[in-house]
Amino acid sequence: MTVRRIWWIRRDLRLDDNPAALRAASCEALLPVFVAGDADEGDWPLGGAQRWWLSQSLPRFAATLERAGSRLIVIEGDAEKVLSDLARRHSVEEVVWSRRFDPAGLAAERRVEAALDRLGVAWKSFLSNHLHDPDEIATKEGRPYQVYTPFSRNCAQRPEPARPKAAPRALPSADWGPKGASIGSLGLEPAIDWAGGLRETWTPGEEGAGVRLASFTRAALDRYPVSRDEPSTVGTSMLSPHLAFGEIGIRRVWHAAGAASARGEASPESLAKFHSELLWREFATHVLYHFPRTTLAPLRAEYARFPWRNDPEALRRWKRGQTGYPLVDAGMRQLWHTGWMHNRVRMVVASFLVKHLLLPWQDGARWFWDTLVDADLANNSLGWQWAAGCGADAAPYFRIFNPTSQAEKFDAEARYIKRWVPELASLAPKAAIDPAGKGAGGLFGIGEELKYSAPMVDHAMARGRALAALASVSKGGAKAAGASES
Ligand SMILES: Cc1cc2nc3c(=O)[nH]c(=O)nc-3n(C[C@H](O)[C@H](O)[C@H](O)COP(=O)(O)OP(=O)(O)OC[C@H]3O[C@@H](n4cnc5c(N)ncnc54)[C@H](O)[C@@H]3O)c2cc1C
Repeated sequence: MTVRRIWWIRRDLRLDDNPAALRAASCEALLPVFVAGDADEGDWPLGGAQRWWLSQSLPRFAATLERAGSRLIVIEGDAEKVLSDLARRHSVEEVVWSRRFDPAGLAAERRVEAALDRLGVAWKSFLSNHLHDPDEIATKEGRPYQVYTPFSRNCAQRPEPARPKAAPRALPSADWGPKGASIGSLGLEPAIDWAGGLRETWTPGEEGAGVRLASFTRAALDRYPVSRDEPSTVGTSMLSPHLAFGEIGIRRVWHAAGAASARGEASPESLAKFHSELLWREFATHVLYHFPRTTLAPLRAEYARFPWRNDPEALRRWKRGQTGYPLVDAGMRQLWHTGWMHNRVRMVVASFLVKHLLLPWQDGARWFWDTLVDADLANNSLGWQWAAGCGADAAPYFRIFNPTSQAEKFDAEARYIKRWVPELASLAPKAAIDPAGKGAGGLFGIGEELKYSAPMVDHAMARGRALAALASVSKGGAKAAGASES
């Protein structure tokens, strides 16, 4: 048996369904090490919302390790130096970790591997947070996929994801290694306390993740195909921040949904829909892994010449939820308050930024990165490129969401809008959805009745402008494909 082992803890803050944790447990003396700081995060250091999340999650994880008989060591620095110093100084025999597939995470891992190889220290890395290794899935020609449906078909032909393995019962302690930094000293919590809404909404950590999964499979999975499009209900799992920090295993989520369906608590259709969303996450990781430039560059190269506008004031109004389009404003305020936004509304606000305002999708991606508790480089890049029409399996650029008809369709009673835009709470649903419309009786014409901004841009004008911009990158593209609105 290996005598001394280090578990390099990354975005896998859990013991359950974690092959790295199981491997870590089978030695005589274990040092679990979390390397803190931005040194290994490249262009995407943790945003404000995720720093808050980590400030809550790390102490809980440290307590979990203590209960299992171990002790979390937190060290600031870069992983290569921290881990190779520890390995050399304490005669460590093996270092283990869970793999990351984002460019910076991957690069850090390569540096650690090389440093350990030079020292003659063994290492082992695990596929802990994904169902499929992005390297193992390829088209018939051996290329990476750029379209979701054939990718998901390929996944379906592979063996069912392995069943999750339970947490190790205990972890070996170590009477060596440094004391490490205190989590409080890392400066993760905001200097000004803006995180009240986050605290109300979330319970970071492995236990909170388990509670979310159980309540979702019990109460919402069966209606998922419908409720996932209703922003006013808790119709989705809200597991995304837990997945982003690896507080729950993806195999656990996959099979828990399957078990609920097997017990008759959810239809096979509901299960298939939920599984297909988990595969979107796999697809996003696959795309980012094979096309790492897509965090900031469009996958479809012609979009690099898109005539984006530069309008800091318009960007500011979008960020603050002051566009005058209630569904967009509700989404942006939900994001600011809770660090999360419903998927349907993410699509609408993203489309509004890139199509109605003609502002670069990268600006939106950066804002989401800073404000989302679930910020995930793969999902975020794919989501934004989807909205901008320039990525893998993207929405065609000429399909332009009308934020008002989206609200009529998915928030017909304006419950979501009224919750997040209280200025509109006393209005009838139709007026709250479209306060500038005829149905609202010209609320903006009479002056002070409504403390809500008029639309910052006219929908028809914006739509025409967006289509003209598109035509300038792909000659005649909008016309040839047949412009449509949804
Ligand atoms: C512009 C834009 C930006 C986005 N940025 C992120 C991001 O930074 N982080 C993030 O996790 N998701 C992102 N998404 C995808 C999606 O909105 C969220 O994953 C989802 O809303 C999370 O809520 P949930 O956990 O309740 O999802 P559920 O509906 O319960 O789905 C379960 C899980 O499946 C995965 N999933 C679901 N939908 C998608 C999707 N469209 N793409 C990839 N994975 C998906 C997520 O891991 C999610 O937690 C983005 C979408 C858009 C349109």
